[in-house]
Amino acid sequence: MSIPLQKAITVLKAEFIGLSPDSSFDHISIDSRSLQNGEGTLFFALKGPNHNGHDYIEDLILKGVQHFVVEEVPENKIPNANFLVVPDTVRALQKIAAYYRGLFDFPIIGLTGSNGKTIVKEWLNFLLSPDYNIIRSPKSYNSQVGVPLSVIAINEKHNLGIFEAGISTINEMDHLQQIIQPTMGVLTKIGSAHDEGFENRSQKILEKLKLFTTTPLIIYKKDPLVDDSLTVFLKENPLIDRQLFSWSFTDETATVLILNVLKSSTSTQIFYRFASTENQIEVPFHDDASIENAISCLMVLLYLKYPIEVIQNRMALLYPVEMRLEVKNGIHNCSIIDDSYSSDFQSLKIAFDFLESQKQNPKKTVILSDIFQSGFSNEELYSKVAQLIKDNRISRVIGIGKTISSFQKLFSNCTVFESTQAFLEQFDDLSFNNETILIKGARSFEFERIVQRLVLKTHETVLEIDLNAISHNLNFFKSKLEEKVKIMVMVKAFGYGNGGLEIAKLLEHHQVDYLGVAFADEGIALKSGGVKVPIMVLNPESTSYEAIIQYQLEPEIYSLKGLHAFLKIAKEKKLENFPIHIKLDTGMHRLGFEANTLPELINTLKGNTSVRITSILSHLATSDDPQHFDFANAQIALFESLSSQLISQLQINPIRHILNTSGISNFPKAQYDMVRLGIGLYGVSNDSNEQKYLENVGTLKSLISQIRTIPAGDSVGYGRRFMAEKTTKVATIPIGYADGIARLWGNQVGYVVIHNQKAPILGSICMDMLMVDVTEIICQEGDDVIIFGESPTVVEMANAIQTIPYEVLTSISQRVKRVFFR
Ligand SMILES: *Cc1c(COP(=O)(O)O)cnc(C)c1O
Repeated sequence: MSIPLQKAITVLKAEFIGLSPDSSFDHISIDSRSLQNGEGTLFFALKGPNHNGHDYIEDLILKGVQHFVVEEVPENKIPNANFLVVPDTVRALQKIAAYYRGLFDFPIIGLTGSNGKTIVKEWLNFLLSPDYNIIRSPKSYNSQVGVPLSVIAINEKHNLGIFEAGISTINEMDHLQQIIQPTMGVLTKIGSAHDEGFENRSQKILEKLKLFTTTPLIIYKKDPLVDDSLTVFLKENPLIDRQLFSWSFTDETATVLILNVLKSSTSTQIFYRFASTENQIEVPFHDDASIENAISCLMVLLYLKYPIEVIQNRMALLYPVEMRLEVKNGIHNCSIIDDSYSSDFQSLKIAFDFLESQKQNPKKTVILSDIFQSGFSNEELYSKVAQLIKDNRISRVIGIGKTISSFQKLFSNCTVFESTQAFLEQFDDLSFNNETILIKGARSFEFERIVQRLVLKTHETVLEIDLNAISHNLNFFKSKLEEKVKIMVMVKAFGYGNGGLEIAKLLEHHQVDYLGVAFADEGIALKSGGVKVPIMVLNPESTSYEAIIQYQLEPEIYSLKGLHAFLKIAKEKKLENFPIHIKLDTGMHRLGFEANTLPELINTLKGNTSVRITSILSHLATSDDPQHFDFANAQIALFESLSSQLISQLQINPIRHILNTSGISNFPKAQYDMVRLGIGLYGVSNDSNEQKYLENVGTLKSLISQIRTIPAGDSVGYGRRFMAEKTTKVATIPIGYADGIARLWGNQVGYVVIHNQKAPILGSICMDMLMVDVTEIICQEGDDVIIFGESPTVVEMANAIQTIPYEVLTSISQRVKRVFFR
């Protein structure tokens, strides 16, 4: 829908500066890197702790963007664009969304709670989509910025909205309430997430309830804490005819009482009473979280007066929700982005942005099914899709489905198939190689079959890497830096075991200043993969100097011997100003120039033009240990004096850096010009308080190969180190010490997690397998097993086996496949 710029100016009470306000926009963007920025775009320059949208305005004007909402007008940019100047661009984005929401008056379901929002939203979409044209938040767009972007996607054809709202502290919900203005409210499970942002649980619930300030219907699970907050909320926000629609496992006064929950290994029967009638549904899950989420959905269907048979039929078909985009290694050097469970237009845009940021091959391919419930006519829809594909410079398009096939002419380099089956029959002729392939299809197309064909098969254990968590952790540490302090991120040892190239690409996307690796080989792998950020090599052997020069890596020089060897090659190759980094030993006694070698270092470098000292660094031995902070301070003082000598005598102006992760946290005054972030990026802190603010990055997952029940007196594993005292159900997991799981973690010291329950490790860990106790857990062969992640954490594991998290992470063998997602 096209909106006049004049209207936006009025809504925002913005000051207008620029060409002419008599224009309009039909697309909103906040991301300068998205390829979808163009003429009809209104760009909001948002300011984050580490990112300022205002910095990209010049670039965007070159790309054709003409309209900007800004907090200040960039100098000299006035003649060729339109600027709407406001005090706060995030608030402005929210105001535009609230105004836009007001143009529509169909029912809107608003979801909030600590857990389950996205799943309930996706399930409601599935359950209600036969009867409505639904607009919903894509993925889990539920933040102060995500909600307005979701709402702005509404169009005239929609007749039901489902939006989720997430908050992390007080006073955030007011804004989201005004944007969503739900007519039906659903409160999902309340848990501990974001407790730190609130004084107590009831303050948090009360804040969440604010989403429903003007909502005439509230669906929720009765429990004492929620009831208390709700009483306060209702008093503060009275509304005539407001209806409360509650459910409970125990409270007879709830609208719907759950009478019984019968679990089997594959499904659950839920018996309930509503309006004095007893009924039952069956859902294909048996974990508690899914059951509660399914009940939230049941409540909505009951409220909407769906017949019981329809409810039963549809609920039986609920499916696990993939909330994320995954990058997988594909056959013939392809990389695969698997988004095979949704095909709506909104999430297509997000998927294209992800494709751009993660493409490991220049060639981009999309496999796309028919798109349902866009709200547009097919003509309009596929023209828009074609435009999007063009804007994103997709090299090849494969359309699957009758409708998309009939619009083939809109796309260039496009092959179409009537069905997934027809595509699979032709699969071998399509010769996929060296391309990044986005797979995006509606559920009914069963695109998982395509994913299966394209993904490289390996054994079932995977280390899943959450790219969003990495971004979050990066931003957390960036927010601790003084203005202008640069950041180098250490990606040595395969990104601390998490993945080298993928993480380097993500960091490049986030515009970090430097990457650090241990050896030249690691740097070469990154450069060969297309990484352009400067890379410092911590420990370059003199045999690798040639390669370092060839690949434009930057060596850390730590001895006179190394310096002379490098200068010799530099001279032979007639290098000029080749960047090098000088390492000083200030007390770690590992690598580096000591004080007494400085005179010769200075003499050697004076007047030498073949190299240039880009930076001077040192490394702290005790930045994580309060007992030895005096020592760290002495190191910093020595660094100050030695580096100052070099600077004054050589008359240079290098970047100085000494802090690693715990240095950033504990020695904020020693940031100098740059810091070197390592373990913190991967979600681990040496400080338990700081740990709370980091997100878990790696989850090591496997699955159950076999289950057996053994009688009391039998033993498990090598050496009979576990003796069953009672009948015991034992599950075997295909991961062992050769995959990097320390044997010290066996023999009931450690555990794995299956369906959110702890399963202690029985007996000794074998080379490729381990056995766990699942006597108390409902599970079956093939079920997921978590080795580490949110629980147990690597910190917990490291403590139990008397090592450090660094070792746990970097021990995970390369035979374990890494899967990246957001
Ligand atoms: C590994 C390393 C870092 C990063 O250390 P963390 O404790 O992981 O943050 C920084 N500097 C040097 C020289 C390193 O070797």
